Amino acid sequence: MTELFQPLAHDTPFRFHCGPDVTCFNRCCRNLNQFLYPYDVVRMARALGLSAGEFLACYTRRHVGPETGLPVVSLKPQMPGRHCPLVTLQGCRVYNDRPASCRLYPLARAVVRDPQTGSIEERFALIREDHCQGHGGGTQWDARRWIENQGLSPYNCNNDPLLAVIAFKRHRHPQPLPPQVGDAIYESLYLFADTPDVSDGKSTLAATAARPADFTEIEGRLSAAYDAVVEILKESAR
Ligand code: SF4
Ligand code: SF4
Repeated sequence: MTELFQPLAHDTPFRFHCGPDVTCFNRCCRNLNQFLYPYDVVRMARALGLSAGEFLACYTRRHVGPETGLPVVSLKPQMPGRHCPLVTLQGCRVYNDRPASCRLYPLARAVVRDPQTGSIEERFALIREDHCQGHGGGTQWDARRWIENQGLSPYNCNNDPLLAVIAFKRHRHPQPLPPQVGDAIYESLYLFADTPDVSDGKSTLAATAARPADFTEIEGRLSAAYDAVVEILKESAR
């Protein structure tokens, strides 16, 4: 498989079409190497009617980030073909709640964070892989319109703060994390939505399952989870 990243200015037009009518339908859901953000996990778990813990146990693998030293999770590839555990002949089982990277494809997005001001600059690239037949046809897009069309804004808002956590880890705790600290961070980042709320005893996922379009509570708990990880790192670095 060849893969080419073409840098793409925010307003550079590109044409792309994807759907069940393309001959390569579902091909991008094979050969999986798919890392998930904490927000991806809660969106998919909720869509499947699972707790975050159940989702993680069934569908993901846990790793240590090679560059960050932080715990990360990826979708568990299925054999043969290392396909996604959530792909079906009809497409993605969790399409409305698919992860950020699936929404973004065929774009790649890098985010550069100014350490002084905290401001974020986005850079984009167009990914051209020889199996993907979607290039050149269909609607004309640019990066901004693609982000909007694919419903990526809430994902970016909830995922980008992880950058600050990673920067903090690198700066304050460059050494590998002791296993118990890695476990505590994993729990904060990926299981926060299963923790019962003190007010009513329900987990965030259970409490919000009846309100399909309302992610406010999850987003609030995720923001608190990022803060909790920074506190864990501070404590561990003492
Ligand atoms: S390989 Fe490209 S065109 Fe084919 S289904 Fe995936 S994203 Fe769509
Ligand atoms: S989550 Fe859905 S879109 Fe993403 S790789 Fe799996 S089946 Fe494909």
